[in-house]
Amino acid sequence: PAVEPAIEARGLRKRFGATEALAGAGFTVGRGELAAILGPSGCGKTTALRVVAGLERADAGEVRIGGRTVAGAGAFEPPERRRLGFVTQDFSLFPHLDVAGNVGFGLGGGGRLRRGAARAARERRVAEMLELVGLAGFGRRHPHELSGGEAQRVALARALAPEPAAVLMDEPFSNLDENLRGELRLEMRAILKEAGAAAAFVTHDREEALSLADRIILMRAGRVEQIGTPAEAYRRPATAFAARFVADANLLRGAREGDAAATELGRLRIFGTGAAEGEELSVLVRPDQVELRRSGAGAAVRVERCEYYGHDQVVHARLASGTRLDARLDARERWREGDEGFASVAEPVAAFAAGEPAGESAD
Ligand code: ATP
Repeated sequence: PAVEPAIEARGLRKRFGATEALAGAGFTVGRGELAAILGPSGCGKTTALRVVAGLERADAGEVRIGGRTVAGAGAFEPPERRRLGFVTQDFSLFPHLDVAGNVGFGLGGGGRLRRGAARAARERRVAEMLELVGLAGFGRRHPHELSGGEAQRVALARALAPEPAAVLMDEPFSNLDENLRGELRLEMRAILKEAGAAAAFVTHDREEALSLADRIILMRAGRVEQIGTPAEAYRRPATAFAARFVADANLLRGAREGDAAATELGRLRIFGTGAAEGEELSVLVRPDQVELRRSGAGAAVRVERCEYYGHDQVVHARLASGTRLDARLDARERWREGDEGFASVAEPVAAFAAGEPAGESAD
């Protein structure tokens, strides 16, 4: 990336007995960037985060934080020397310390240094952090007196207080109420952006990754499958696996014809692929790229089921050949089970060489 990297991981390998948790994973997170590490259960997301944090030693590979090698090439720095903030799933606040004590924990200035200038600087920094996360006035509360969202913000303030080179977060939203999550995500993003901190968070929630991250690091079986912006991951996934994991997908068979693919839905313009003329392709049509009409041009489909979501609806249809085709449509369009229509596609579409195993999908 154009920005200076805050986190660089290269060729990470880690075995637990017979399990290969990391099989050569590598990625970078730029300064000020918020990256989501996304992937199916067991693909190595948490292990990658723990290796970067120094909570786990990799069998091979290198980790650099803020341009400094902290692991690999004979080096191994313990977590507390890596200039990283860490936010765990349960926030791990110290129950016996109040909010100010928690936020100030990593700032030193304990013991005799609590006096005078060091103490004043520490208190200033704690107040600044509480202000940043919107919890000014909460300093004397104890963790058990906080809501889940407040506890998360305290954990974030504690992680940011020592001005780390990057913040690492392991599923930071998984323990929060579903109804609060959306708002808290936006809040957390705003706080990290205001602090100018680089951050990487682990998630298996694709919507969380798409809506929150600047870049998505998609993992599969111990390796990185693709790194890209949410729009790239959504519109131009690198593989069929990436296409299916990141969001709902129709994958159609096709054959390469110049800058297009010949499919059951007609000739569809494609983004470049490595495939040769005539080669078989797997063609990605996102449900929101499908249009259904009562009459006119397009491939004939029959509606099998409609799912109403209020802001939109997903119409599950089937082509004459038996191929399933899902369409995400305006909720005001009236489609019913058994209806017949004609499907067309908003181009261009992404395509991959066929034969590549699509692997598991997120749903
Ligand atoms: P999830 O989304 O389910 O949390 P993940 O992508 O974070 O999964 P990891 O926790 O990194 O995956 O685990 C990767 C693989 O390594 C899994 O098969 C897991 O069982 C295994 N593993 C992780 N930690 C250990 C350990 N300490 N001992 C043995 N096996 C482990």
